[in-house]
Amino acid sequence: MLRTEEIKRCAAEIGFSACGVAPAEALPEARAAEWRQWLAEGCQAGMDYLERNMEKRLDPRLLVEGAKTVVSLAVNYYSGEVDRALASRPDDLRLARYAYGTDYHDVVKAMLRRLMASLGLEEGRDGRVFVDTAPIDEKYWAQRCGLGWRGRHTQIILPGQGSFFVLGELVLTETCDEYGDFCENRCGACRKCVEACPTGALRGDGTLDARRCLSYLTIEHRGELPAEASGRLGHCFYGCDRCAEACPHNRSFSRDTLVEAFRPRPEILRLSAEDWYGLTREQYQALFRKSAVKRAKMEGLERNLQAVRQGLEAVKLGKASQDSDRP
Ligand code: SF4
Ligand code: SF4
Repeated sequence: MLRTEEIKRCAAEIGFSACGVAPAEALPEARAAEWRQWLAEGCQAGMDYLERNMEKRLDPRLLVEGAKTVVSLAVNYYSGEVDRALASRPDDLRLARYAYGTDYHDVVKAMLRRLMASLGLEEGRDGRVFVDTAPIDEKYWAQRCGLGWRGRHTQIILPGQGSFFVLGELVLTETCDEYGDFCENRCGACRKCVEACPTGALRGDGTLDARRCLSYLTIEHRGELPAEASGRLGHCFYGCDRCAEACPHNRSFSRDTLVEAFRPRPEILRLSAEDWYGLTREQYQALFRKSAVKRAKMEGLERNLQAVRQGLEAVKLGKASQDSDRP
């Protein structure tokens, strides 16, 4: 049996901002029904992979044989450097905050492996590590393990820390001596994120319609951008942080990450709008080595940059209006 206090102590030493544990078991029927309804309404857009392996997503014991415990962990990726740089150059273009540093998949996976090793556990024999790449409902588990609640902007809010975090999980075949409690929702009557979303993608119940979400459209979507979304990009051509920026928990509690790999790369941060519009394939390869931005591919970035340019020119000519997209 593992000691929960020991897991949390090792996690904090490695740089995780929060850690919680829960017994590995099937998700409650209400959460399973929410998934089925969301998929039936087509809110997953082109993310067909979300329709596959649903039985594993709804029960981690089908993902890892003999699973007894889920450990949910969060890593802060916020950096005020990005805000300060862009505030001083308001006409420059921007990426979602997490995209200025090294790909979180690599960083968090390495941290999870260190955690397993420091607990004397062996990956494969005693469990597995996951970062956003397997059918595991990471937001449910973060809430179930007591890390925080799923806000109306769909992200997990850590009390007193905000939501600029990436999540990772260990699914272990050992039990723990103490398990956390489900963290109840504390959004209350607030709807700031819903009101800040420029495309109406947030449904108000902690889920979103990916077909309308600029983050999905600029990163995952292949082909042309829908005209309505394209005119709403503002200055951000990869991802979109507007709902998170509007959240009072982020405004009050976001603090700089202590994870060096998540600090913004200066060579990305210093690029002007003209630099971005003239981005060559060689620059793309050099700038985004080991970066999550590669997910959109060069073609995707070119498409997004063109849409941003057209949108901003239309605003300048008074042909369109856009909500502010600056923090
Ligand atoms: S990321 Fe942007 S488009 Fe997507 S829900 Fe949030 S504010 Fe709306
Ligand atoms: S902005 Fe308000 S409603 Fe939205 S996630 Fe934050 S606290 Fe919840």
